[in-house]
Amino acid sequence: MISDLVIRGGSIVTPGGVIDGDIAIEDEYIVAVTSGVSAGKREIDASGLTILPGLIDIHLHFNEPGRADWEGAATGSRALAAGGGTLFFDMPLNSSPCTTNARHFDQKRTALESASITDFALWGGLIPGNVTELAELADRGVVGFKAFLCDSGLPEFPRADDLTLYEGMREAARLGLPVAVHAESEEITKRLSKRFAEAGRHDIAAFLESRPVIAEVEAITRAGLLARETGCRLHIVHISSGKGVAAALDARSLGTDISLETCPHYLLFTEDDLLRIGALAKCAPPLRDPSERDALWASVLRGEVDAIGSDHSPCPPEMKRRENFFEIWGGIAGVQWTLPALIDKGLDIPQLAALTSANAARRFGIERRGAIEPGAYADLALVDLKASQVVREESLFQRHRTTPYLGMKLRGVVGKTIRRGEVIYSDGTITAVTSGKLVKPARNRNATSGTHA
Ligand SMILES: [Zn+2]
Repeated sequence: MISDLVIRGGSIVTPGGVIDGDIAIEDEYIVAVTSGVSAGKREIDASGLTILPGLIDIHLHFNEPGRADWEGAATGSRALAAGGGTLFFDMPLNSSPCTTNARHFDQKRTALESASITDFALWGGLIPGNVTELAELADRGVVGFKAFLCDSGLPEFPRADDLTLYEGMREAARLGLPVAVHAESEEITKRLSKRFAEAGRHDIAAFLESRPVIAEVEAITRAGLLARETGCRLHIVHISSGKGVAAALDARSLGTDISLETCPHYLLFTEDDLLRIGALAKCAPPLRDPSERDALWASVLRGEVDAIGSDHSPCPPEMKRRENFFEIWGGIAGVQWTLPALIDKGLDIPQLAALTSANAARRFGIERRGAIEPGAYADLALVDLKASQVVREESLFQRHRTTPYLGMKLRGVVGKTIRRGEVIYSDGTITAVTSGKLVKPARNRNATSGTHA
């Protein structure tokens, strides 16, 4: 039998280790991973390249529907594909409406199905007053529920007070889905911000001081307690510090089912970079001092962090231009650079595949993804680990061509991205013909339902 597509040669990062061989693809699926597969109808020469499972970005904001002028799934998914990505989990904010009920889910699904070239899954939102909506969101196929423990910056997505979080987690546990939290203490960050405002301080240093590491540690600890009490699976998004990781591991040792996510920018940059770069590097939690950054990196190397998401969260350029640094929109646009950012740090390649794909698929019940093996969807990133590139405006596929990565030289160049057997990106060009699809999680280990709607 002649396969539709054979990827010939290359170092293939499989669940069992890195092997030199070929991949045979039939329709959307991998049918063989071995050396010397027979000729296919089409072949791609991958000699000299490393083949990773397609990157799964579990944390980003494409802001569609409603705020496609901030990014949009058409541009965002192209940037993701250019970075080796085949699937993303879109956050319930900053689209308008936010994904806080089934009707809003349907609106986002429709928008993304027509705009996105990669596959996508949707986070639902947990906000005060919508706990009764979670069951319908679960039926629609959300991967979990995202809550803010501090002000989200978006009035229509208020933070979850402790009772909302407790009752939401109880419901999420019943539904078999995780709750993801943005872990920063509202009590600490709000009071400190007010104190600086009263003192007339609007500068970057004041912003950094208004969101200290303890605000993250306190919120992780509190969320860990509530998750443990309710039996809810907990996911901590964008952990920014070594102390944050330690707090999450403490919760695990006490019995919380917890997973840890960080972002490339917390591993690459420090608060000195924020002082140097300014608005483009503003995010919350903020970039940290070198000791916290190094401790976080050490945690990643020890395997304590489960997943790395980009938290790509762009905005129109004018929202990055304010006198008052506190009023500047927080969010780093980096969806295209996750793999090079990590490759450049010298991460072991199987661990890179785990952090950017396999662990996410397993944690969130995304079947047939995250592994290069027969039976899995043919979601692949072909990467030249020896080549380097300088990040330039013209290499960005995102809507607004600004990112703190501009001008950086990064090792690891994505040559091709293959989504369900289709080459959607090839050597600088988007080649996708078909659109992305909604991917739903399996809600428990025994579920047999497929991943596609
Ligand atoms: Zn985010």
